[in-house]
Amino acid sequence: MRIAFIGLGNMGQPMAANLVRAGHDVAGCDIAAANVEKHVAQGGRAAATIEAAVDGAEAVITMLPAGRHVAEVVPRVLRAAVGSPLLIDSSTIDVATTREMARQAQARGIEILDAPVSGGVRGAIAGTLTFMVGGGEAAFARGRTLLQAMGKTVVHTGGPGAGQAAKICNNMILGISMIAVSEAFVLADRLGLDRQKLFEVASTSSGQCWALTSYCPVPGPVPSSPANSGYLPGFAVPLMLKDLALAQEAAEAGGAATPLGAHAARIYAALMEAGYGDRDFSVTYEYLAELMRA
Ligand code: NAD
Repeated sequence: MRIAFIGLGNMGQPMAANLVRAGHDVAGCDIAAANVEKHVAQGGRAAATIEAAVDGAEAVITMLPAGRHVAEVVPRVLRAAVGSPLLIDSSTIDVATTREMARQAQARGIEILDAPVSGGVRGAIAGTLTFMVGGGEAAFARGRTLLQAMGKTVVHTGGPGAGQAAKICNNMILGISMIAVSEAFVLADRLGLDRQKLFEVASTSSGQCWALTSYCPVPGPVPSSPANSGYLPGFAVPLMLKDLALAQEAAEAGGAATPLGAHAARIYAALMEAGYGDRDFSVTYEYLAELMRA
């Protein structure tokens, strides 16, 4: 298939490489020339502009930083499209922009899916991402094989915007539960309870959650977690803050009460102010331990 891939950053680069590996002809476009060069080195084609990438494409995938980038790029794609390529936006953005893009695409008779991912750069490289996909049944059926070339799990979560909705709800659970697990370890330290013992109990009791068992915020219990390597990301604090801000925006627009989500966003913002912005979000434990010592 001829594919245009727009946004060849940390995530887009390996995702496009997996499409090339699956035998697709992938025209890559990025405002950073070095990223396009890397794409060519991986067997892809270079496109100098969005319009050149879209020319002749049967599918167009965008993997951009935020809503404002998508709101700029997707209308250009819609203007440049010849025929009816399938559009897939895998960026994590706000639900309102996603729904507006779906409205514009529909007006042009073009199908679009919002398909944000979970799994991070490691998952993008390994092709094991989870895609949460919003859009029509027919569009989902068209896009499924492409998404499977980049990920392991592909879930159709509903109509336009439902992919982004699933992503921000999931990450709100994660952001809150990481703080809960970190607080428990800080309290355990203060009570003289051995960390490994708390892990043994909580990981097999009602405190069990992903933030504890797969991504434990203290060194030791889970050897692969960022806590064992100086909290190198992983999933950096600003990315978690971005997703929690998207959740709060959606909660305010929809009138949903999410008090813990709001509080979690304030805590990650405080981590940024305290200088932890380049660390993995599980550094929350260190931040709280520091507060305890202060
Ligand atoms: P990134 O900043 O590394 O990549 C974005 C790329 O888009 C950059 O290379 C940038 O030059 C390019 N770009 C920006 N504007 C453009 C334009 N007008 N035309 C062409 N290219 C343009 O970001 P990333 O880490 O790859 O993340 C992409 C998206 O995926 C974000 O929405 C992020 O929230 C989401 N995400 C990231 C991770 C992660 O671990 N990095 C995990 C899950 C989801």
